[in-house]
Amino acid sequence: MGAYTRQVRIGSAVIGGGSACLIQSMTNTDTLDVQATLEQISRLEAAGCEAVRCAFYCADCAPAFREIRAGIHIPLIADVHFDPDLAVLALENGADKVRINPGNLRGDKALEKVVACAKANGKAIRVGVNAGSLEPHLLKKYRSPTAEALAESALNWVRRVYDMGLDNVVVSIKASSVPACVKAVRAFAKLCDAPQHIGITEAGTYESALVKSAVGLGALLLDGIGDTIRVSITGDPVLEVKAAKHILQSAGVRTFYPEVISCPTCARTGINVAGFADRVQRILAETGKPITAAVMGCVVNGPGEARHADIGIAGGGSGKAALFAKGVLVGTYPEEHILEAFADYVRKHF
Ligand code: SF4
Repeated sequence: MGAYTRQVRIGSAVIGGGSACLIQSMTNTDTLDVQATLEQISRLEAAGCEAVRCAFYCADCAPAFREIRAGIHIPLIADVHFDPDLAVLALENGADKVRINPGNLRGDKALEKVVACAKANGKAIRVGVNAGSLEPHLLKKYRSPTAEALAESALNWVRRVYDMGLDNVVVSIKASSVPACVKAVRAFAKLCDAPQHIGITEAGTYESALVKSAVGLGALLLDGIGDTIRVSITGDPVLEVKAAKHILQSAGVRTFYPEVISCPTCARTGINVAGFADRVQRILAETGKPITAAVMGCVVNGPGEARHADIGIAGGGSGKAALFAKGVLVGTYPEEHILEAFADYVRKHF
């Protein structure tokens, strides 16, 4: 993704410059509880998280960050609000990147301090912009925090950081609604080649967050925008990583899972589609290969509708099921033997 964005290095990872859209999440343990934070990050890493952010909210977080840094395998990002001294402390104590909102720092001197520290230590900065931190002159010019105002604000801050001699900058623009956020991120992408962190902020609990993120982030990813992604979900952050993977795969940006296509079922349905889809998903997961399989309720429409699937099962009526590959019939089997035939075909042909 982000073929036209600059490349930014954070610890062992790369963001932008055409590299794969990096999956991030954020811990919700207390950073000072190092053991709990390390345990959560270990679960995030196992789920596929590629960079993790922890709140750095007081000076006591410094020794905790050093311990956390030493105990994890992915880049560590410090989330800092308002205080440039905390940002500096984070960068000096293990953070590979610090997320700040320059509009909330106290003037250019504060920003200079953070930038100088990042530069001296080979670290990165994420510049955050949102409606609440918009500069007064932009509010006056645009009358409200429009997408254009947010994009211009982000551009101004990034230029200032570039002028201070730091190229390692990632931008994140947040707006109150999904359409406003998408509009602002698109507007910035037209103005500047800094890599963008994309996310729908405060998206809510699981179902709402999933839909809002899939709509907003999906639209951006399909436009080729987005160098690193976080799906915000209230609850266990491991869910964020799984959701990010699904969104990236659905947008055709990265591949993580074998894909199971199953029909919605109707009066023609001849097999237990939901049950077979689960079993097929498990068989494919064991192969670890990105195979696309279909489970369709009937042979009337099934194989044709799932023609692009590598392999599929369709209900045949009278306790029979059909196995097909690339839309062509392989054979018809009693329903109780179809999964065996499916697994056998996968073993031999993939
Ligand atoms: S594939 Fe067949 S059973 Fe499934 S929804 Fe379509 S027509 Fe109905």
